[in-house]
Amino acid sequence: MQIFIYIMIFAFGLVLGSFFNVIGYRVPKHESIVFPASHCPKCKHKLKTLDLIPVFSYLFLGGKCRYCKKKISVIYPIIELLTAFLYVLSYYLYGPTINFLISITFSSVVAITIASDIRYMVIDDWVLIIGGLIILVLGYIDGGLPKVGDLLLNAGISFAMILIIKIAADYSFKKEAMGGGDVKLMTLIGALVTYKMSIIVLCLSAFIAFPYAIYIYFSKDEHLLPLGPFLCISGLIIFFLGLGFDDLMMIMAK
Ligand SMILES: [Zn+2]
Repeated sequence: MQIFIYIMIFAFGLVLGSFFNVIGYRVPKHESIVFPASHCPKCKHKLKTLDLIPVFSYLFLGGKCRYCKKKISVIYPIIELLTAFLYVLSYYLYGPTINFLISITFSSVVAITIASDIRYMVIDDWVLIIGGLIILVLGYIDGGLPKVGDLLLNAGISFAMILIIKIAADYSFKKEAMGGGDVKLMTLIGALVTYKMSIIVLCLSAFIAFPYAIYIYFSKDEHLLPLGPFLCISGLIIFFLGLGFDDLMMIMAK
């Protein structure tokens, strides 16, 4: 029975992941997420149901459009699998609780953000706002006003701290080192992992991004690196580990 629930959650994650690809692809371009129906971004050919099965269609078609044979971005199946994996992990960690719903909401925001930030270097405000509101409502159901207050306090302090770091970094690099979208994303992450840990998330993301930053520096002319996906990955790691600042200090002291 338990395995059946996991399979259902995984399938649900794949389908929603496929939808998150559409949101991440269309919303930054201010296109409707419903119309026109799914089509190949290269030849505009309308896609049939058989072309739209998450992951399997990509594998079956060998990563190419059925009609124009141009390559389909590998971002699509990656976002689908990532969403499914995060949903299953959420259920494994939290079971059928409100925390599970908070966790899959956060995972969904992360999946959409990675999809749009990799493509356009854009983190959509609406994705963060809607995700944030859902998390506040779930927080209220779980722990009433004190929990909502706690989430808002951590969001507010994280926002202020990350904004100061952004201003300092922009000033010292003499250009925009961190986007406004990154600051807003960190506000949401900070609400969930606490404001103290938001600084740890930022440090961890710089650490993870470092090899990639070097690769970009030597391989391309444009030294632009979307920070969002790295913030998302480190935010997820800290969130799922459930590691508090005091726990971390205890580990460091040993
Ligand atoms: Zn095509």
